[in-house]
Amino acid sequence: MKTAQLEDYLPRPAQVVEVVTENSQIKSFLLRFVDKKHNAGFSYQPGQFMMVSMPHCGEAPISFSSTPATKGLIRLSVRKAGTLTSAMHELKEGSIIGLRGPYGKSFPMEYLAKRDLLFVAGGIGLAPLTSVINTCLADPEYQGRITILYGSRTPEDIAFMAEIKAWQANAAVECLLTVDLATSEWQGNTGLVTSLFDQVAINPATQSAVVCGPPMMIKAVLSALAEKGFDDHDIITTMERHMKCGVGVCRHCHMDGKLVCVDGPVFTLAQLKELNVMEIS
Ligand SMILES: Cc1cc2nc3c(=O)[nH]c(=O)nc-3n(C[C@H](O)[C@H](O)[C@H](O)COP(=O)(O)OP(=O)(O)OC[C@H]3O[C@@H](n4cnc5c(N)ncnc54)[C@H](O)[C@@H]3O)c2cc1C
Repeated sequence: MKTAQLEDYLPRPAQVVEVVTENSQIKSFLLRFVDKKHNAGFSYQPGQFMMVSMPHCGEAPISFSSTPATKGLIRLSVRKAGTLTSAMHELKEGSIIGLRGPYGKSFPMEYLAKRDLLFVAGGIGLAPLTSVINTCLADPEYQGRITILYGSRTPEDIAFMAEIKAWQANAAVECLLTVDLATSEWQGNTGLVTSLFDQVAINPATQSAVVCGPPMMIKAVLSALAEKGFDDHDIITTMERHMKCGVGVCRHCHMDGKLVCVDGPVFTLAQLKELNVMEIS
């Protein structure tokens, strides 16, 4: 195993190549390291994250929403939440930011590649899942069926529309949307993302579920999946905790003996139950 060097912990300058406005709260940033050599050798896995640094704002963890197969460019999708993410929303093409990483445990891609997959996402939670979904779709050996259920607050809040259109046009994928609050033009489903469960084929024997979204949504979805008969090892989610270092030193993201930055952010429901951080009825 490669030993970490001091330079692995230093932010490296990266240039914004393109900014895509996903909705009023979320923007995606295509980024390239300024150092061409680092860019060429950089690799990561879906579910891992980068520590992003912005002048006078400190650092924040942000997951990859791109696929590792796209070499030389990474995409980070960011919801305006506070100081750093609001500053990121002001970035323009050509702006420089700091990036260090990749950090954290990825989704179990080798295992998922052998399964049918049910993705359940809410809001910005679709960002890390796009990395998994598009990696599976780009893998010629992946033979499974992909089902994507995506919940947003309102129709205007639906993000990643370009990706959603591509998935809906793909015969190997079923992608359904729902909103909490419909507008008069909205013709789709209204209700929580769990209200879509009865509209798709669910088969816990062949499917693994991958869930990402706000904490309340995750809790409701994990309960509903357990009720449908999914094994705790086949329910995979991500945990969000405030963190400063990203590398297991500051212990800010401590969670009953585990650190989200190094032991996570990806956990199975079985692991969360052991940690006593997820009460599922
Ligand atoms: C592994 C991981 C991956 C992530 N990936 C993404 C991603 O892909 N996209 C994305 O948009 N976000 C992602 N996040 C969330 C993002 O890192 C946070 O929202 C981050 O705090 C934003 O930084 P900020 O400076 O903009 O906001 P902050 O200033 O940190 O504020 C954000 C919110 O947190 C509250 N807050 C601030 N400090 C604390 C504290 N110490 N304890 C409790 N609450 C506090 C604030 O009141 C505010 O509501 C991820 C988080 C983790 C842990």
